[in-house]
Amino acid sequence: MDQATIGVIGGSGLYEIEGAKTIKELSIDTPWGRPSDSIVISEIEGRRAAFLPRHGRGHVFLPHEVNFRANIAALKMIGVREIVAFSAVGSLKEKIKPLDFVLPDQVIDRTKARESSFFGGGVAGHVTFGHPFCGRLLNLIKPAADEIGLTMHTGETLICMEGPAFSTKAESNLYRSWGAGIINMSTLPEAKLAREAEICYAVICMATDYDCWHEEVEHVTIDMVIRNLTTNAGNAKKLLKLLLERLGKERDCECGEASKFAIITAEKKRNSAQIKKMKSILPDYF
Ligand SMILES: [Zn+2]
Repeated sequence: MDQATIGVIGGSGLYEIEGAKTIKELSIDTPWGRPSDSIVISEIEGRRAAFLPRHGRGHVFLPHEVNFRANIAALKMIGVREIVAFSAVGSLKEKIKPLDFVLPDQVIDRTKARESSFFGGGVAGHVTFGHPFCGRLLNLIKPAADEIGLTMHTGETLICMEGPAFSTKAESNLYRSWGAGIINMSTLPEAKLAREAEICYAVICMATDYDCWHEEVEHVTIDMVIRNLTTNAGNAKKLLKLLLERLGKERDCECGEASKFAIITAEKKRNSAQIKKMKSILPDYF
């Protein structure tokens, strides 16, 4: 039986869903290793969600240390079909002020050495990623944010950088010249893996600072980030409660068949050990 169809990935500052009732805690092992922490099946006003803190409880893993494949595989293996992720971001635009929310619809990959695919190892596959986030989820999230009076910017491009050090001023200005609105270190490969696993995925970003490009504002420090995160986590939880009422319905987007035509390796050439791994997340195709 599916444990939950809605998954919530918490970012910096969001390590639990406050006020939620814990139904059970699942310690999952996947063919790609163990996720960042146990997954908590929670209930809020009658709706279930599987919660996983991306960096582990107590913030143990740096972005490049997170086992993204295990996180996404674990959620898929317990029945998750929709993921709402949260992430703290730096703002690259004057109009995106600290404490504002941003719902990006595009992303530019500036990560370096991360395992970014379930495919490979003798089973080659390519999914489409032109629209990296599920449009259906984006259309559910924005009205919910409006309803509770949150400032939420849409139509923005997110830069996902490697880190863990923040950007240089030259990099920050380069990204601004590209028209990007926000920057973080953890949406990729998370969104790519969710697409491969055929899970709808969107990320709700919370601006904590102006990165380092702004001439008149003090440059980003971890202290500033933490201060604003605490304020924002409360707003994130309010939004999440409303979203849980609206998620979990029939999916009419294309995410559920993202890998159907992705596999290119001839059937008799496919590596059997890799097939066994892939079966755990895409049982219909192997
Ligand atoms: Zn979708």
